[in-house]
Amino acid sequence: MNIAIPSVPIKLQRGGGHAGMCCARWLVLACALLTGMAASAAPPVETPYGAVSLPFTLYQVPGAPVYYVEGLSGVPDSVNEGHTSNAGFVVTEAGVVVFDALGTPALGYRLLQRIREVTDKPVKCVVVSHYHADHIYGLQAFKEHANAPTVLAQRGTLGYTGGTADSQGEDAARRLEQRRQALFPWVDEKTTIVAPDQVFDRETSFELGGVRFEVKHLGPAHAPGDAIMLVRNYGVLFGGDVIYGGRVPFLDSPETDITQWLAGLDYIAGLKDQVQYVIPGHGTMSEDAQRVVEATRNYILYVREVMARAVGDLVPFDEAYLNTGWSRFEKLPAFDASNRGNAYRIYLDEEARSLR
Ligand SMILES: [Zn+2]
Repeated sequence: MNIAIPSVPIKLQRGGGHAGMCCARWLVLACALLTGMAASAAPPVETPYGAVSLPFTLYQVPGAPVYYVEGLSGVPDSVNEGHTSNAGFVVTEAGVVVFDALGTPALGYRLLQRIREVTDKPVKCVVVSHYHADHIYGLQAFKEHANAPTVLAQRGTLGYTGGTADSQGEDAARRLEQRRQALFPWVDEKTTIVAPDQVFDRETSFELGGVRFEVKHLGPAHAPGDAIMLVRNYGVLFGGDVIYGGRVPFLDSPETDITQWLAGLDYIAGLKDQVQYVIPGHGTMSEDAQRVVEATRNYILYVREVMARAVGDLVPFDEAYLNTGWSRFEKLPAFDASNRGNAYRIYLDEEARSLR
């Protein structure tokens, strides 16, 4: 395989310059806004969907025309302006492929602005990892300001948008209502949910400007339509919410299928010779696919193990949660926001399983 990446990876600089970084533009974009500068130092940036005042740092994968932004930890609220997920894009000679669109139209518009700072090539396609609000509300900005790129997602996402016979999109409507409260003015009555233009079943692949994109369904894991995208030429994997980088995963959804999720992680682990960089749906990029898979897997296995034991011993959830040692994970971002809900979700799963 021909990976155009240095054999000794150049570490992304998150606090200062690096003589080896090959892209001066990245230095300009990233260094100005990296950690150490107060969030308030950056003036708000106006968009047609409201001003974004958070730093909106663009990172580049070393040696590749692959870029991404990284969301904050925590649940979407007015402080983080809904910027809690990651999204990225790949520049080719023939156009741009985007992966995920962030959690508000304003953030989607900021991503589009960042793309325009790097290239004037048209955005051809937005691949969506799954239809959860924090990854898709930015699609509206792409549809309205980027020459209507094709939105590609796995067929399972249609249940969310109401595109299937047994779904009217109630979950999506409920979530939109919640976000209109929690994320006003970035999500308001003008915010719409953009359904996929194209769906695939097991996997699909395409080539653009000589770059090969391989998109595969790994769900239902975190969500029914979980998709990952391998950018073959550069060995970059966009993992969506099947992978969390250095933070506690979010398991607390009725759609989450733990068994399938673990199988998906096994699949990603099997790609280790083809993947140099993993960009997760939340958290930091990793140069070690194996390690990031292990971290997500170890967390899931631990929660399942302790909750299954509690159910087996007929210990009530509150008591089981209190008596569980969480020290391995409690320093991780998103622990406070997600851990108890995750544990309860798994407890209920195990309870249901024990009754079957
Ligand atoms: Zn999600």
